[in-house]
Amino acid sequence: MPWCASCDKYLSPNAVSVVGTCPTCGDRVEDSDGSPARSQKIPWHFWVFASAAAIYLAWRLVEGLVKLVT
Ligand SMILES: [Zn+2]
Repeated sequence: MPWCASCDKYLSPNAVSVVGTCPTCGDRVEDSDGSPARSQKIPWHFWVFASAAAIYLAWRLVEGLVKLVT
């Protein structure tokens, strides 16, 4: 469980920001085992969605360029 030494309290893993800092004081939060708090894992379906969006945007860009030249 992430522990904030500055606030002197435990934080829920979801409350810790993506960069591993405390939402209250902004200090770096440590996991109870001493290692820096791991940021929330990015789920695999995020990357599926992100790449799908990237492909779609790239396609729209190509489409737009084709319309410009024709
Ligand atoms: Zn704090």
